[in-house]
Amino acid sequence: MTHIESPAKKRIAMVAHDNMKGEMLGWAKEHEEALKQHVLIATGSTGKLIADNTGLTLERMRSGPLGGDQQIGAKISDGGVDILLFFWDPLEPQPHDPDIRALLRIAVVWNIPVACNRASADFILSSPLIQTSYKRRVPKY
Ligand code: PGA
Repeated sequence: MTHIESPAKKRIAMVAHDNMKGEMLGWAKEHEEALKQHVLIATGSTGKLIADNTGLTLERMRSGPLGGDQQIGAKISDGGVDILLFFWDPLEPQPHDPDIRALLRIAVVWNIPVACNRASADFILSSPLIQTSYKRRVPKY
């Protein structure tokens, strides 16, 4: 094991499936001021929805089904994402299910906090660790 330092200004990746986009946007609006303190990354449509409806700026990847989940997974592997907010849809099958599993898997491998629903996102954002640097244990690489 070794460590990676997540900085005080967190790089937060945001991904929401279509049925969960309203929930993600509502959460982003509710926490807009807090989220401005951090760097935001998102899959294509999630990022566009948030950018168009809030004052937040996000770095946008491809849409999830077109490879955006994999792009975020690659960033996690490179140490470029500190937190994953992934509101996946528990009620509808998705065409890119293998990518979804891969993204969740890689987030666990690299030991970043993951929120798959709004309550978990609330808990992560209200943690004192959100505004301090944090040394997370990761596999030796
Ligand atoms: P989207 O991708 O933000 O481009 O809709 C999310 C997903 O389906 O993984």
